[in-house]
Amino acid sequence: MEIHIDRHRCEGHALCASIAPTVFEVGDDDLATVVDSSPAEDIEPKVHMAVDACPTLAISLGGPAS
Ligand code: SF4
Repeated sequence: MEIHIDRHRCEGHALCASIAPTVFEVGDDDLATVVDSSPAEDIEPKVHMAVDACPTLAISLGGPAS
């Protein structure tokens, strides 16, 4: 799983970090960063939830199709 955050779109709502705090972190600059780019399998559903929850569609997933 590849997790990418478009920092031009991110508005720092931190929804991603509240849904998957082990994967996303919002820094002092109010922009989210990926702190764990290869999360454990049981975290992956939360990553998808964060993608859906992001109001600015800043998070995208890549990597091999599954
Ligand atoms: S939910 Fe989206 S806009 Fe909000 S901090 Fe995360 S990536 Fe940025």
